[in-house]
Amino acid sequence: HRFERDKRVNLHGAMSEIALFYQSMLLQNIAKPAVSYLKSRGLSKSVVEAFGIGYAPKHALMNQFGKTADDKKRLLEMGMLGENDDKRTYERFRDRIMFPIRDKRGRVIGFGGRIIDSGTPKYLNSPETVLFQKSRHLYGLYEVFQYHPDPKYIVVVEGYMDVVALAQFGVNYAVATLGTATSTEHIQMLFRSVDTIICCYDGDRAGKDAAWRALNAALPLLDDGKQIQFSFLPDGEDPDSLIRKIGKEAFEELLLKSMGYDHFLFESLSKDIDLSNQQGKTKLSALAIPLIKSVPGAAHKLLLKNAFGTRIGMLDARQLDQLFNAYA
Ligand code: ATP
Ligand code: MN
Ligand code: MN
Ligand code: MN
Repeated sequence: HRFERDKRVNLHGAMSEIALFYQSMLLQNIAKPAVSYLKSRGLSKSVVEAFGIGYAPKHALMNQFGKTADDKKRLLEMGMLGENDDKRTYERFRDRIMFPIRDKRGRVIGFGGRIIDSGTPKYLNSPETVLFQKSRHLYGLYEVFQYHPDPKYIVVVEGYMDVVALAQFGVNYAVATLGTATSTEHIQMLFRSVDTIICCYDGDRAGKDAAWRALNAALPLLDDGKQIQFSFLPDGEDPDSLIRKIGKEAFEELLLKSMGYDHFLFESLSKDIDLSNQQGKTKLSALAIPLIKSVPGAAHKLLLKNAFGTRIGMLDARQLDQLFNAYA
């Protein structure tokens, strides 16, 4: 155990050193296209610094940190090098803008790397390592607490650029999942710090699906006093593009008017159901009742139950109880 812990401490130190190195690379001539790109995305020097954004030139990592076989082994463990089928190593991030991912204590545990301008893959993330597990970390969470020791709510977005652009505009209480769905662990982490989560995903099919998955992850964690809300953006917009168009005030207005999870839940569940007949009501019961029962908060559960009763036209509490008891 001792050995494992010491090893992690060393890896943390090395990751932070690499992040600083990438930051310092932004000052080099070779980073000119990267710097112009960041400028073209409207990011100021101060927000770039606040998030520790840097640049990974080709071969720089190997030249600086990969001299010996031991060094290489460590870089592999950190996910900074990849390994081919024939055991040849390669730099994972070459010619990319680097977003360091920090844990709650500010230690760098991984990176997201964006290609400059266009090309594929647009983003590369660190692989899962001893330091970094996608389902257990959120990009920008450490930074939120740097801005606010005790935030009232936290906004969850899809992308690195969304987090940074929002912060640039003063909406500095956003986090992003790391190219994965919002998990129960993510929600749990957030509810340890705030009572209200606002999901604000891209205005497209994928964003809508992500919202639905986040809701399902959140339901079993909804104690009374906890809230999750959903802000749906206009088609084709993401938080980054939208705040650039409408500004901070209008964007925060949108967050304030976000949809309650109960409304989103019933709208989604009854989307293709005709509730004017018994078949439809039965169908909605089968979908909704197990979900409602999975909610831990007594007040949440009762309100959902009543809202469900209203939808299917069953207003009698005793009948509703009977119906709920029929489901596991
Ligand atoms: P940008 O505004 O820079 O084009 P974006 O954040 O709007 O980026 P999306 O395509 O909406 O990009 O993707 C949202 C997030 O999903 C990204 O920030 C990244 O974490 C993840 N992602 C996107 N494309 C990939 C990819 N090819 N591989 C891994 N993760 C990706
Ligand atoms: Mn998208
Ligand atoms: Mn975007
Ligand atoms: Mn996007």
